[in-house]
Amino acid sequence: MDVRLPRFVAVDWNGTVVPWFGQPPYPEALTMLEALREAGVYLVVVSHATPQQIQADVARVGLVADEVHGVGAKASMLVQLADRYGDGVMVGDSPQDARAAQAAGLPFIQACFEGMSFLGRGLGPLRDWSELPLLLTNRPIAGE
Ligand SMILES: [Mg+2]
Repeated sequence: MDVRLPRFVAVDWNGTVVPWFGQPPYPEALTMLEALREAGVYLVVVSHATPQQIQADVARVGLVADEVHGVGAKASMLVQLADRYGDGVMVGDSPQDARAAQAAGLPFIQACFEGMSFLGRGLGPLRDWSELPLLLTNRPIAGE
């Protein structure tokens, strides 16, 4: 992946990596996330779920992530991640995800699958997981 990569990427789960718990991942989602991680990006799943629920579904699809969090509200987790790791990006599908990213000062990439309309915020719509490197390339870098 020949782009300036963030230190970490946080991904929402339902509507972003899979349509919903128990369903097959979106095309290329696992391939792209694994490529990021192999390139040294710290990969974190942040889902509005119980820890058990999200850990079970991540294990089901076979994704290897550095951290998997089931939380009641994503903003405080994203703030913690941004404090700990600095330069990061949030990928999610919903307005709540966009607001949580904004609260943490993280650039937001919106997954727009299955007819989800683009909110017009952040780095742009991700209409196919293979577009991720292009969107990461266009992001602002903290301190530059
Ligand atoms: Mg979602």
